[in-house]
Amino acid sequence: MKAEDFIQAAEALDARAGTIIDAATSRADLEVARNQLLGRKSGEFTALMKLLPGLDPDDRRQAGAAVNRLKEAIETRLQLRLDTFAPAVATSNVDLTMPARTSWKGGRHPVTVVIEEIEDIFRELGFTIALGPEAETEWYNFGALNFPSDHPAMDMHDTLYLSDDVLLRTHTSPVQIRTLQNYPPPVRILAPGNVYRRDFFDASHAPMFAQIEGLSVDEGISFVDLKATLTQFANRFFGKTRTRFRPSFFPFTEPSAEMDVECQLCHGSGCAGCKNTGWMEILGSGMVHPKVLEATGVDSEKYTGWAFGMGPGRIAMLRYGIPDIRLLYDSDMRFLEQLAQ
Ligand SMILES: [Zn+2]
Repeated sequence: MKAEDFIQAAEALDARAGTIIDAATSRADLEVARNQLLGRKSGEFTALMKLLPGLDPDDRRQAGAAVNRLKEAIETRLQLRLDTFAPAVATSNVDLTMPARTSWKGGRHPVTVVIEEIEDIFRELGFTIALGPEAETEWYNFGALNFPSDHPAMDMHDTLYLSDDVLLRTHTSPVQIRTLQNYPPPVRILAPGNVYRRDFFDASHAPMFAQIEGLSVDEGISFVDLKATLTQFANRFFGKTRTRFRPSFFPFTEPSAEMDVECQLCHGSGCAGCKNTGWMEILGSGMVHPKVLEATGVDSEKYTGWAFGMGPGRIAMLRYGIPDIRLLYDSDMRFLEQLAQ
């Protein structure tokens, strides 16, 4: 092949490129045209380039100059054609000057926040998280926990029964039984979960609410361990605060005590939130009743333990000053947004 023939072929391609590029009516068309002309594998320009090595050196110089001009011409023409198309974004109704909308990422529910904080504190104190089923048998929910068989809590008016023997657990205490049945002491667990009562849904009651159970069983455990651990917890959770224990009664602990913390609203001077007592009750606790240990096969002569139960919903209400428990269940974004973390 001579230089003249090559240049002729280059001019023919130049003319054809003009036709192809002018025929493109969109960016997509133009991309197809670019590929047809300059594509590395099967582009027409590439095919022409492959002829170069077959030329004599003198012819090759002339042809090389022509090929450079041709490539430049095709690229310029592609760019000019591209400029005639409006920018892609302008074809939609996007206003690029509008400030970005921050997306709603959601947040943790105030009760979840409280549960996770309580879990963190007890985890550091050596407790493990344990879970149990929400549908329980009467034995796990009452019998093993030393409830007398005529206890009013076992009445259909108080408890949601699924069948004669199966019910929605009224507290997280059955997890104590299930844990002691499966793991020999020493045991230190924290059991969070939902519990159910046949209660009206009003400002301070809900038929379903969260509870957290704690249990520690080992040799030589005494009331001192209970008091020290729960006081430590209160100081960690509420900040340095006064606490007090009042005698109480639960079938599954003996002795039993309610624990109060200084009212977080008035710091002890008395207000409507604490009914002028200066104290707020946060949990029930006590030494595990020997009959509970024996029901699970644990030797009550060798081992002792303490347990507590508290309502994280109630604690969230105290902490955030929430006046009505129903706000925790309404899924009202205006309320949740204020507390989302
Ligand atoms: Zn108060």
